[in-house]
Amino acid sequence: MCKKYDTVIGLEIHAELSTKTKAFCTCDASFGGDPNTHICPVCTGQPGALPIINHEAVAYAIRAGLALGCEINRYSRFDRKNYFYPDLPKAYQISQLDLPLCINGKLELSTGTVVRINRIHLEEDAGKMVHDDYHGESWADYNRCSVPLIEIVTEPDIKSPEEAAEFVSKIALYLKYLDVCDAKMQEGSIRADVNISLKPAGSLVLGDRAEIKNLNSFRSIQRAIESEIARQTEILSEGGRVVQETRRFDDATGTTSSLRSKENANDYRYFPEPDIMSITFSEEDIERAKSEIPLLPYERVMKYTKEYGLTDEDARVLTLEKYLSDFFDEAVSIYPEYKSVSNMFQTEIMRRVKETDTEEVPISARDFAKVCEMADKNTVNRNDAKTIIRIMFEDCGTPEEIAKANGFIVVEDTAAIAEVVDALFAERYDLIEDYKNGKTNVFGFFMGQANRALKGKATPMSVKAYIEKKFSEV
Ligand code: ADP
Ligand code: MG
Ligand code: ZN
Repeated sequence: MCKKYDTVIGLEIHAELSTKTKAFCTCDASFGGDPNTHICPVCTGQPGALPIINHEAVAYAIRAGLALGCEINRYSRFDRKNYFYPDLPKAYQISQLDLPLCINGKLELSTGTVVRINRIHLEEDAGKMVHDDYHGESWADYNRCSVPLIEIVTEPDIKSPEEAAEFVSKIALYLKYLDVCDAKMQEGSIRADVNISLKPAGSLVLGDRAEIKNLNSFRSIQRAIESEIARQTEILSEGGRVVQETRRFDDATGTTSSLRSKENANDYRYFPEPDIMSITFSEEDIERAKSEIPLLPYERVMKYTKEYGLTDEDARVLTLEKYLSDFFDEAVSIYPEYKSVSNMFQTEIMRRVKETDTEEVPISARDFAKVCEMADKNTVNRNDAKTIIRIMFEDCGTPEEIAKANGFIVVEDTAAIAEVVDALFAERYDLIEDYKNGKTNVFGFFMGQANRALKGKATPMSVKAYIEKKFSEV
């Protein structure tokens, strides 16, 4: 069947920056805290209080912009966006209207679509309302007021719900690698507004769009777009027009509903923020910022395949999370057996940390590297090495201590090997005759017997070598 309409999507992504302090005061910017404990006269908009720009927030925004291929405006300015809402005690938000920090970036998706980024600007977050439906009360928590945000605005280049979800998850991953945002969707660190319109397939003219506000999971972004495509398809198929409006998405029903239409849309009365100096950058500032950008996910994949000789698939899996990739990098810097460390890491570390929801590995990269080395060098056998990792996850102790305490250290007692195997050969001379007559499975019998007798005193490898030598002599 021929597709009747093309989907056109543009995103506005809000990402909270993980600076220690807020955008325009020195209050703690971390998530949570008892309500209204991270506040001061500046972020609650008391008369006469003056904002001071947080340079760390500016640096983070620039880093994100440069990593996303943006140009940095050499001169940029803040503006007041005025509106009343109980979570905004100042009754305006300090934002950037026509001179944002970053413009004209881009990000490519796995489908080959290149999404142009129109702008990235710095602004402050609002507080949070907590509604108690049972008592019919609403509470204001201003801890989040003035936490720095970047808003990333794309051109309408995205063509499907899957592309939109990929774009947001890629942005989240980039921001984590850049150390500018923790990207915890469940804590609202990343929220997206989604603009959607349909146009007759192949047409160059964009249709009228609806905007769905405040989506905070990859899944709800995808579902909201799917439901909106269905709704708009129905309207257009019946010859109607899509009303340009703001809609909200209900997770429970999976549908969107109207919040406000363009006729009564907000008029923010933007004007230049008089209390904050404009920002200027020199060429040296930009060059320094560029030099401080850490390796991005795709660059790590390149490093893992080219320098470490890992497969594309291994490289991809190892870079899915920054903290895991960092841990792996530290381990191979200590013990550079890439393939072996990668295998042990994927089966024993990644699997375990995935079961928890903390983003940290509870053992040190140094200890992990040591266990890999012990297994490779046969100081302990591979299964015991895995047990050591399990014990380290639950308990303290170094790999060496755990190996000793549990009798995992492999010894090669060559005298014992000779004694046991020689005795076996003497005892079962009949089997040697069979072997000479072509019954090669006799070898397995000797291996089994010898290994059982030598458990803990020798590795199967050296037992095998000795038995092979014996047979070659008979
Ligand atoms: P506004 O100022 O009303 O927010 P913008 O022009 O800044 O509008 O666009 C906001 C977002 O909407 C951008 O991400 C842009 O790509 C997207 N957008 C604009 N027009 C359309 C359209 N016809 N269909 C889908 N998205 C659109
Ligand atoms: Mg908008
Ligand atoms: Zn404050």
